[in-house]
Amino acid sequence: MSSSAVPVKVEGASKKFRQGETIVEALKEVTLNVEEGEFLTVMGASGSGKSTLLHLIAGLTKPEAGRICINGEDITALSDRKLTMFRRRRIGIIFQSFNLIPTLTARENILLPATADGRLAEAEKALPTLLSRLALESRISHRPDALSGGEQQRVAIARALINQPSIVLADEPTGSLDSVNGQILCKLLRELCDKDGRTIILVTHEPSVAIWSKRIVVLKDGRIISNFETSTFKDSHSLASHYQGIVESDKNAVVAA
Ligand code: ADP
Ligand code: MG
Repeated sequence: MSSSAVPVKVEGASKKFRQGETIVEALKEVTLNVEEGEFLTVMGASGSGKSTLLHLIAGLTKPEAGRICINGEDITALSDRKLTMFRRRRIGIIFQSFNLIPTLTARENILLPATADGRLAEAEKALPTLLSRLALESRISHRPDALSGGEQQRVAIARALINQPSIVLADEPTGSLDSVNGQILCKLLRELCDKDGRTIILVTHEPSVAIWSKRIVVLKDGRIISNFETSTFKDSHSLASHYQGIVESDKNAVVAA
């Protein structure tokens, strides 16, 4: 495996789900490359396949067709045990619903992936810097129910970062936050890219969130129909109208991104 390999390479990936009698094609031959240190947003209406794409990249599900290569390694070929190790070490994941363990303190939640990976000493050393960056120092001994939504999501970010993953995936991370905390979170994600050189893939349908990224791909009915840089938009309103135009058009072509 070469370190210069593309961090995320999705090649013709298809994923179907059975819903009773019907088969839903959640992703149809999606091709996507994400470069090192990129901050990519996946946009699209509800049901367009955004979460499915993120789950494939995280190795949480496998495609029926196509390949997912992370840093040059085909993760669709890994055993479940190897996949778990891969996720713990290389990928940090943040969800809309935070997914914190209610009986553990913030500190214990954050250290959990390091504990599971036998890296507790290393993680404890890195913890103070991480906490100060996320403005969590004074909240560390609280359980999730004593924390605000914004704090809970920052704990979830700290947990995602504790094993120093080079790739961070976020599925609608601002979906449960008010707009102020949402923007704080976006700024943090941007810093992870600009200052740490991490590769970020964010899923959202909110233009005010997507504008923080560098590039956007738009999914519609399981296919990527658009791929563009955010730098051409002066604000999230102009991005919003461009995005609306794309999803409402019936003349979209499939693109490899
Ligand atoms: P999005 O995140 O863009 O809202 P998803 O990737 O969650 O979309 O879903 C894409 C399509 O696949 C939807 O039609 C959804 O109902 C279906 N789907 C997703 N996950 C499952 C599942 N585990 N079982 C059955 N259908 C699913
Ligand atoms: Mg989703």
